[in-house]
Amino acid sequence: MAHPKRRSSNSRTGKRRTHWNLKPPTSNGCSNCGQQKLSHRVCGNCGYYNGRAVVEETNEI
Ligand SMILES: [Zn+2]
Repeated sequence: MAHPKRRSSNSRTGKRRTHWNLKPPTSNGCSNCGQQKLSHRVCGNCGYYNGRAVVEETNEI
């Protein structure tokens, strides 16, 4: 069976895993209501996307 000739050192493993970190999703303010929202997503507060209402406001039940 194929087998590694040398064990990878702790340093080498750590260097490989430097790219494992996760970045928080970028959020910015809604252009309509100013609430924090994720970019390229419909605003959860007012339902606006790209300057127009995409989703009806669901404040009532
Ligand atoms: Zn909004």
